[in-house]
Amino acid sequence: MIKDDCIFCKIAKGDIPSATIYETSDFRVILDVAPANKGHVLIITKEHFDNIFQMDAETAGKLFSLATVVARAIKAETGCEGLNILQNNGEVAGQTVHHFHLHLIPRFKNDGVNMSWTPKETVATEQEALAKAIKSHI
Ligand code: 5GP
Ligand code: ZN
Repeated sequence: MIKDDCIFCKIAKGDIPSATIYETSDFRVILDVAPANKGHVLIITKEHFDNIFQMDAETAGKLFSLATVVARAIKAETGCEGLNILQNNGEVAGQTVHHFHLHLIPRFKNDGVNMSWTPKETVATEQEALAKAIKSHI
């Protein structure tokens, strides 16, 4: 399915130009136009999924398989020492383009990129109950 007013559907189809690295029948791999670091890549699905909650497991499997190959290509070209994979779902989680995409962000020492949070406290018994409760939905 393609969504008419979706910029990433248009990029995925090739109707809007992008710096494309690679393409399969399911995905387009492009450079982010406003990168966190040089070599910041997005893997965009060709089919429109708003976010992970809509994506099927088969596509998700192919996606991560492709991500391993793309991550190594980014490393080979940029010489990055590390790489973050980021994927935002929903406005509250920082998603700004509501068409599924995976970020691959190469990391360098002192690059000023920040992805930190303050850890919340946990209680072992509550963790066990929560783990069971989440499992009940799987
Ligand atoms: P999100 O915040 O939704 O996880 O990430 C959206 C990403 O898409 C941002 O990093 C932003 O720079 C990138 N982006 C938005 N519009 C375009 C575009 O037209 N072309 C490309 N290549 N990247 C885009
Ligand atoms: Zn779309």
